[in-house]
Amino acid sequence: MTHTNRPAGPMTTAIHAGEAPDPTTQASAPPLHMSSTFVTDQVAGFSAHDLEDGADGYLYTRWDNPTVAMLEKKIAAMQGAEACLCTASGMAAASAIFFTFLSAGDHVVVSDVSYAGVAELARDTLPRMGIEVSVVNMSDLEAVAAAIRPNTRLIHTETPVNPIGRLTDLAAVSKLAREAGALLSCDATFASPLGMDAVGLGADLTMHSITKYIGGHGDALGGAVAGRADLIARMRAEAAIHHGGILSPFNAWLIARGASTLPLRMKAHEAGAQEVAEWLEADPRVTRVIYPGLASHPQAELAARQMKNRSGMISFQVGDAAAGERVAQQMIDRLEVIHYAVSLGHHRSLVFWMGTEALMETSFRLEGAQLEDYRAYAGDGIFRLSVGLEDAEDLIADLDRTLGDR
Ligand SMILES: *Cc1c(COP(=O)(O)O)cnc(C)c1O
Repeated sequence: MTHTNRPAGPMTTAIHAGEAPDPTTQASAPPLHMSSTFVTDQVAGFSAHDLEDGADGYLYTRWDNPTVAMLEKKIAAMQGAEACLCTASGMAAASAIFFTFLSAGDHVVVSDVSYAGVAELARDTLPRMGIEVSVVNMSDLEAVAAAIRPNTRLIHTETPVNPIGRLTDLAAVSKLAREAGALLSCDATFASPLGMDAVGLGADLTMHSITKYIGGHGDALGGAVAGRADLIARMRAEAAIHHGGILSPFNAWLIARGASTLPLRMKAHEAGAQEVAEWLEADPRVTRVIYPGLASHPQAELAARQMKNRSGMISFQVGDAAAGERVAQQMIDRLEVIHYAVSLGHHRSLVFWMGTEALMETSFRLEGAQLEDYRAYAGDGIFRLSVGLEDAEDLIADLDRTLGDR
């Protein structure tokens, strides 16, 4: 990519990796290949085992598609991984990991807090398939070590964890996984590929909901898993070709356009979130703010060591559940810039109330020390605020008018 041996920088990588001027038209922008099948001159078999990475031409879009392959190369390069598989959604990426690398009789250790869909999949679906599941607070290394069994095949963590912003020490957990002969997968959606070097810290598989920061514009769902080429090839054969949860080329094309500006956007998300988090922390109506860029984050030392970009995700509390619900209603009625909506990582700021009691019932089902640790971060409930790319003063004015009387 460059004329020296120096690797390209992150901005150049985000723009150029996976792309080149179209050889037939010389178009500068990458084309969109909306074709389900490809005319072939080979008398080829039609099995996942006949898989080639497009080097011998394309066969059928459930195997591989040039536009999706372009995005996969871009994400692999941004994450510093050998290869990447894109999927229909972030949940399809999580399912791809679980159902490729786990079989009946295997054991998996999953974070006791995670994206709610992943939490429910791990608690309800995996045991139904004969897979043993331990849910563990991944910030507690002794608890992770104690949960490992002879049949542990996978440790699945998430950092910073949705929705409370607690961190996992990836270098330490990857050491435990290696010693156990298990794979480590990390859901790095909150961090984005710019947030930390998950691959360098030892994650075998780094997954993203590319619906969030990587796409960045709130218009397309997708997922990705980046990692070693042999692991990604197994996932392509199982999860893509057999389970079928592939990314549409149209979504890949949209998401690749977003991904080109990811490093620039992450700098702006981080700067905006830092300003908003400091304002929230100074406001007496706000009782607690969790953001990895604040000195008050319970794992500020780990944040400084592990995170290269603190991202744009803030969680904050305004008191008990009744106070939270009252402010949530005021947000619904009065917000002018921020959207009251789920999802995150978009250029538009988004906020959503997440009550602890309801989340415990539906998704996390924690008790004892695990529930206590969750409440240490989230109390009766939190507002999950995804700071977008608007001017911080406008976001602060919006929050100010919805928090109620001073
Ligand atoms: C949104 C999200 C997912 C699920 O992604 P979808 O694209 O909505 O399927 C998984 N993990 C995390 C951390 C998320 O924020």
